[in-house]
Amino acid sequence: MRKQPAHLRALNVVSILVFAVYFVIISAEVIQLWSVLGAWGVLCSAVAGYILADFLSGFVHFLGDTFGSPTTPIIGPAFVFPFREHHIEPEAITHHDFIETNGHNCLVSIPVMMIMAHVLFKYAVVSATAGFAFATSYFLIFGVLLTNQFHKWAHMKRAPAPIRFLQRTRIILSPAHHKIHHTSPYTRYFCITTGWLNFTLDRLFFFPIAKFTIRRIPFMLKTAEEYTDR
Ligand SMILES: [Zn+2]
Ligand SMILES: [Zn+2]
Repeated sequence: MRKQPAHLRALNVVSILVFAVYFVIISAEVIQLWSVLGAWGVLCSAVAGYILADFLSGFVHFLGDTFGSPTTPIIGPAFVFPFREHHIEPEAITHHDFIETNGHNCLVSIPVMMIMAHVLFKYAVVSATAGFAFATSYFLIFGVLLTNQFHKWAHMKRAPAPIRFLQRTRIILSPAHHKIHHTSPYTRYFCITTGWLNFTLDRLFFFPIAKFTIRRIPFMLKTAEEYTDR
């Protein structure tokens, strides 16, 4: 089994620690939004953030599967390679420990959390709209944090019983649903937080249209097929 390179491991550890500090700071601020939003406002922002996390998981996954190659400078080894490797050896993710599973997702959330912390400390959130935006961003970050863990559980032969209940009830990504993505040509059902958006995005041809559009951006990376066609 491939061992995680030491420098990536160190980056993952630091990312998780920094994420934890910011998450505690922001949680203390977001709790106070309860008085602005009320219970229903908080619930709606939680659902909105969770759905947005599913969309983001799909879009980032789509980018990693579709554009560039593992040898592309900077993003290749860190971003493209894990997605391509996952199609070749899908069960490898089940051997990743907590740090390797969650480190990357913590890292991408840190800049957003820094901005949130800065704004929350500087300004008092008094309007319901601003409160909703902050609470939704908070739950989005929480959904992003959980995504790779849900993805890992979807690949486990037998996840713990409470997790299997969440998968059966489709509160989190289920193995049967995710299997559709792991079927050649691997171009459908990219969303991996809950998979709730997969059916709709598939019917709207969202990802084929996104691929067509992004490829036309000047200086954009070539698609995976264009690399293998060379
Ligand atoms: Zn994929
Ligand atoms: Zn997978």
